[in-house]
Amino acid sequence: MTEKFTGSFTQQEPIPDDGIEAAIAVMRHGRLHRYNTAAGEIAETARLEEEFAAWAGVPYALAVASGGYALGTALRAVGVKPGDKVLTNAFTLAPVPGAIAGVGAVPVYVGVTEGLVIDLTDLADKAGQARVLLLSHMRGHICDMDRLMRICDDAGITVIEDCAHTMGATWRGQKSGTWGAVGCFSTQTYKHMNSGEGGLLIARDPQIMARAIMLSGSYMLFERHRAAPPPEAFATVKYETPNISGRMDNLRAAILRPQLRDLDRQCARWNDLYRVVEEGLTGTGGLTVVRRPPDEGYVASSFQFLLLDWDEAKVRAVLSRCAARGVELKWFGAAEPVGFTSRYDSWRYAAHPPLPASDRILAGLIDMRLPLTFSDSDCAQIARIIRAEVSAVWQSEVGSDSPAPTMGD
Ligand SMILES: *Cc1c(COP(=O)(O)O)cnc(C)c1O
Repeated sequence: MTEKFTGSFTQQEPIPDDGIEAAIAVMRHGRLHRYNTAAGEIAETARLEEEFAAWAGVPYALAVASGGYALGTALRAVGVKPGDKVLTNAFTLAPVPGAIAGVGAVPVYVGVTEGLVIDLTDLADKAGQARVLLLSHMRGHICDMDRLMRICDDAGITVIEDCAHTMGATWRGQKSGTWGAVGCFSTQTYKHMNSGEGGLLIARDPQIMARAIMLSGSYMLFERHRAAPPPEAFATVKYETPNISGRMDNLRAAILRPQLRDLDRQCARWNDLYRVVEEGLTGTGGLTVVRRPPDEGYVASSFQFLLLDWDEAKVRAVLSRCAARGVELKWFGAAEPVGFTSRYDSWRYAAHPPLPASDRILAGLIDMRLPLTFSDSDCAQIARIIRAEVSAVWQSEVGSDSPAPTMGD
């Protein structure tokens, strides 16, 4: 009998009860807009920003409508103009090049390594081409941030971090999002905190944050913020910065505040799941488990492995055999974008010369989500199924639709 996994890879946990209660309180009083406060009241959104800044260890935070909006706002706030080139990862998701294109700028893609991080040699080679790097910590893999910052500082490059997959992660003990000039986070349902849609942006520089706050649609109400630079920082910024509304509302903030209090514990749970899958897949013939550097404090809400240099037909066989047993794997090597797995060569609005070394990695890159609704034993079962199917395909000829052999291990 072959075992089959019956869980859902897209089912997140419910909103915690205290989040539901806080949301109901906001709905009962009706003041959902962040600047709609009663006398003496501090809006949920302002409190969330204050708490997020404290959690990140930075002076300033801004809550916005989405992670993608945070990225676009960060690009504008550091001065990216239409026609500018912006360095970014070839291996990332569509909102990243989309944010660059959204401000009329042009992405220059930097390759990906077998460790699934930005290729720092390629970055150093391309450093002369742009003044800004939008660094995506894609799928939670963090590169050597010391070396990256050296390259960027030497070249006068401003770094914006896309932390959509690294909320709570660190490099050498320092939180992701605090290395560059701006850190951008998403609170969309599939990320580490869930408000349906939402984003957060952190910074240390008062001018950058003043611009971001004005951009987000603060009118002249910026003094109601609690994790914002002092009014002097807005003296000229308030006249020079367009309002591109993308605020967060009090309902979302109310849902997020209890989740933030619980975030570190949740991150530890994600990592427990990750380690179960990692252990279950280590030593599988033909399968490369991504090595995590000791300096990386990751927060894994998904799992990646490589079937490096495999024939396309064999990769497809693994995907379909795992799918038949309830294990939903995503492949970054498919020519056509499917689900969220689009690639740099499918973003035709920003056509780019091929990156053969990265194409090789993407051709073998398999990805799956690890929602917290999974248990350790779910993850052990998922790993057993993948291991069995990868081994079966690795050892046999492809093309036969014969059922999977009984599991050896
Ligand atoms: C989700 C995501 C974003 C953007 O977040 P949204 O809140 O969906 O706009 C940015 N970068 C990456 C890598 C993402 O996965």
